[in-house]
Amino acid sequence: MKFADIIIPVPLDDSYTYLVPKEMEKDIVVGCRVQVGFGRSKTYVGIVVRLHDDKPDGFDLKPILKLIDSVPVVNSRQLEFWRWIAQYYICPLGDVYNAALPAKMKKTVNESKRKRKSAATDNSDTQLAIQSSTVISDLTPAQQTAYDEICASFESKDITLLHGVTSSGKTEIYIHIINKYISEGKQVLYLLPEIALTTQITERLQRVFGDDMGVYHSMFTDAQRSKVYQRQLSDNPYKLILGVRSSVFMPFQNLGLVIVDEEHETSYKQQDPAPRYHARSAAVMLARMFGAKTLLGTATPSIETYNLATSGRYGYVNMTQRYGDVSLPSIEVVDIARLRFQHRMKGAFSPLLLEAIGDALNAGGQVILFHNRRGYSNLLECKTCGWIPRCSHCDVSLTYHVSRSKAQSGDGEKKEPASRGFLVCHYCGKVYNVPDKCPNCEGTVFSRKGNGTERIEDQISNYFPTARVLRMDTDTAHTRMAYEQIISDFSVHKYDILVGTQMVSKGLDFGGVTVVGILDADVMLNQPDFRSYERSFHMLTQVAGRAGRKEGKGRVILQTRSKDCDIISHVVSSDYRSMYDEQIEERKLFRYPPFYRLIYIYMKHPDNVRLDMAANEMQRLLIAAFGSERVLGPDRPPVARIHSMYIRKFILKIEPTFAYHEVRQQLQKIRQQIISTSVMSGLTIYYDVDPM
Ligand code: ADP
Ligand code: ZN
Ligand code: ZN
Repeated sequence: MKFADIIIPVPLDDSYTYLVPKEMEKDIVVGCRVQVGFGRSKTYVGIVVRLHDDKPDGFDLKPILKLIDSVPVVNSRQLEFWRWIAQYYICPLGDVYNAALPAKMKKTVNESKRKRKSAATDNSDTQLAIQSSTVISDLTPAQQTAYDEICASFESKDITLLHGVTSSGKTEIYIHIINKYISEGKQVLYLLPEIALTTQITERLQRVFGDDMGVYHSMFTDAQRSKVYQRQLSDNPYKLILGVRSSVFMPFQNLGLVIVDEEHETSYKQQDPAPRYHARSAAVMLARMFGAKTLLGTATPSIETYNLATSGRYGYVNMTQRYGDVSLPSIEVVDIARLRFQHRMKGAFSPLLLEAIGDALNAGGQVILFHNRRGYSNLLECKTCGWIPRCSHCDVSLTYHVSRSKAQSGDGEKKEPASRGFLVCHYCGKVYNVPDKCPNCEGTVFSRKGNGTERIEDQISNYFPTARVLRMDTDTAHTRMAYEQIISDFSVHKYDILVGTQMVSKGLDFGGVTVVGILDADVMLNQPDFRSYERSFHMLTQVAGRAGRKEGKGRVILQTRSKDCDIISHVVSSDYRSMYDEQIEERKLFRYPPFYRLIYIYMKHPDNVRLDMAANEMQRLLIAAFGSERVLGPDRPPVARIHSMYIRKFILKIEPTFAYHEVRQQLQKIRQQIISTSVMSGLTIYYDVDPM
């Protein structure tokens, strides 16, 4: 009798043992997909991870229902990689399997038959079919030097940081390095944060690598993604995969190089659902398994990466000049607290910013206005009693929107002119009508507090009625088409002003932008998180870096109420090093990464009182296992209820000398213990390792 251990998307155990029917015995191999029953009525597609003859005792085994593949769709390196993710991030292997394979490949026979009819149009291959014409630009001397330094660094180091200011021409260097590895017969993985992966960069690479390049992106259809995956398994795999974080799960046969572009981006960390992995760490591990090299690139390295680079663990290559010797933009700081006090602000705009915008428009230039808050205003407040509408499922106030996003309304209309607006919960997405009167005092007058991108768009159109204004945030750019349309329209100057959230800052290369306005730097500085200063530095520097990329003379107007804050002056003088020195001191002092490992522990339950009981038990067990000096909490996070689930959070701070596998084992045990002993059902416990 033969048995198979199979991974299925059920989060109790890593794998489940099934009986291999006689007729399958000669065909089944590790890495194949099979269809199996689970529980009373469920059927899943799973992956065979082990074949053996040790019959597990104690219960009746079910037979495998169907063998789907004759050759493995997951190779042994991938399985090894999946196991690493599951262990390091303390989550079930089934969750990794779920993240790793395109949905289409996990559908049972019945499901995919049903789907096939409706998805007939999905077959169109929208991987752009541009012919490769080998148009590789020559490198400038500065780029050539950086290129040579990277190659030299890879002689002795597996990981190298390319720290090059915005618009120093890092992409061109990547292209040359990719080309080198491909010509040596190796495969390359090029990772970009979700939001930065646009036609701009895709086309640039496609012109060079043509059909050798596959794109793997969550905005592509599932059919397209599984096509890319399948080709990776064939004997004609892509030589280059350009993709977002989940492309670390692609099968590779001969990976030689991984590039992690914009390595500082926190969106490389998956938040929900599990596995809560960091694609940068995962990429480094993947490369290590292949004996491949990793190149991390950014204008603003993360504190963790820069620390490893300057301590000699990683190689380090620096570029301080922009391409074409264009100067970095000049950054002018405007104190909006003072201007507001003097009644000199015009809505969200300082006189200086309005003047700069006017000058840019008159000279035929374009403008980017950055504001990291979507919607119209932050909140609505009853003018009489101060009542604020809140979400009924989350402990958070609602954001006022004037126009419904296409996603919410389901039609193509951008604006509903007669609308009084809507209230939207930014945590669960629920949409509410604006109340006629205050439920508290029956007052009918509401004031709109704080600015969102919609309001900025409105105001700027008032000041510059002839300017063509475009807005980019998750409300207007919720599909790949919409997003790329905005970018292509703006890059051919169909619009003069682009208003947007952090979306406008990510790696975009618009030659025509001469002025960048940052409306309120404090939105980021005031986040209650130990990374908020670092993150503000990254974001402000990156946004500023969109100005004057072609001809220089870019102007950035940075509005803030904290003009004396160190971060602001480091941004102005583009002084990464001082920012780093300050932050690394604080990290050491307050026991944060890279000196300590952080693990957040979340507990969720619909009943607040019972959750408290479970949290107390958790606290007791955590302290018993790790000592009270390593355990913080339980705390209520700033938004302490989401989707009707109450939340408690613990922080575990672990010093580097504490063996990680022990931490992991303890945490696994504790979760088991609480879930099995507690009488309450519906309690969720999960760990967030290296949280961002
Ligand atoms: P970064 O990624 O460092 O911010 P980019 O790679 O986007 O910078 O380059 C900035 C601009 O300079 C782009 O418009 C790019 O086309 C141009 N550029 C960079 N290097 C070269 C080169 N060697 N030849 C021609 N154009 C270049
Ligand atoms: Zn009221
Ligand atoms: Zn909500």
